[in-house]
Amino acid sequence: RVLVGNKVSEGHSNYVMAYNMLTGIRVSVSRCSGIMKPLTEVDFRTTKKLAFDISGSELIPSSKYDFKFKDYAPQVFRSLRLLFGLDPADYLVSLTSKYILSELGSPGKSGSFFYYSRDYKFIIKTIHHSEHRQLRRILPQYYNHIKENPKTLISQFYGLHRVKMPWGRNAGLRKVHFIVMNNIFPPAKDIRSQYDLKGSLAGRITRTPTTNSELARTIVLKDQNWLKEEKTLKLGPQKAKDFLNQLRSDVDLLERLNIMDYSLLVGIHYEPNRLKKNNTPETLMSFEGRSELRATDYLNNDLDEVYYVGVIDCLTNYSFFKKVETLWRSLSHKRAEVSAVPPMEYGERFYQFVRNSVDSHLIRKQC
Ligand code: ATP
Ligand code: CA
Ligand code: CA
Repeated sequence: RVLVGNKVSEGHSNYVMAYNMLTGIRVSVSRCSGIMKPLTEVDFRTTKKLAFDISGSELIPSSKYDFKFKDYAPQVFRSLRLLFGLDPADYLVSLTSKYILSELGSPGKSGSFFYYSRDYKFIIKTIHHSEHRQLRRILPQYYNHIKENPKTLISQFYGLHRVKMPWGRNAGLRKVHFIVMNNIFPPAKDIRSQYDLKGSLAGRITRTPTTNSELARTIVLKDQNWLKEEKTLKLGPQKAKDFLNQLRSDVDLLERLNIMDYSLLVGIHYEPNRLKKNNTPETLMSFEGRSELRATDYLNNDLDEVYYVGVIDCLTNYSFFKKVETLWRSLSHKRAEVSAVPPMEYGERFYQFVRNSVDSHLIRKQC
């Protein structure tokens, strides 16, 4: 796999923040152990604070820097990690071993920072205060959805935390909220191209002047690229049904929660035809935080297409800000093409776009 992102080691401008994030997770998550009791309403509102300093104390080990760490609903996220099938020890090893992360040079417009865990299994995303509030607000419904939909395509959230630390020359304190989530793409497989699909068209194009295939695969393509390249998810009837049913139920939840601006992230991997298992079940495969879909009976230069898919960036509430954006943008664009539309409209447009992108026919092999 091509390594994307820069290693965050000592001297990197965000090294201290990354170090504090991982130190906080290590201490807080490893202490959240003991017998699991059934969750109560209170668990969803509980927060836990830890103060770290260079000298340490009886209760908290010393750390390289002074900072404060806040863990939100620790028992709920512990239970979620269990529902998602994560091993508690592996989780800590992935996130804290040797404190190395790689930073993805802010791929979105939002100003969030993205970090991969050392083994590329997990992604840490810094989030805006409003997204943090949104996640806390929807946590009970999200939790129930996960319980009822173990194969959900929606981002798997493993933790919500905050670090508070000195920032900048005048050393004012800054609070940074962040989430830990699944990497939609498997660490060991080569993703040849990736698409971020919202179902809207305005501005949804990535111009790719590069002929360098190594570089091209690190570029995130969008809706207009998808349509122009006539891409489809070649799933055949049964997988198409399973996938769309799951997506339908996920979109219903996001609509109910007044959420919008999310995308379906699709990564395409090519696998030699002969590796294909004859008894591949006709379903949406879900394991280790990833949803994998194999193209059905499709011969493509002896290569099979395998898709890794997930619904990402799903913490944007249709707030006042978005209402203003809708009004402003609708002056210059056709409504259906604008991305900031109310959640119901957004969800239906999104679902229809994906549905139209699914090829549910069985394509006969030409051999
Ligand atoms: P904006 O609001 O401008 O879209 P953002 O900062 O909220 O930006 P996201 O939309 O969450 O960012 O993600 C930006 C890109 O980062 C995605 O298009 C994708 O390439 C990558 N990415 C985000 N989350 C994941 C994930 N869970 N697994 C793999 N890649 C991801
Ligand atoms: Ca996004
Ligand atoms: Ca966003």
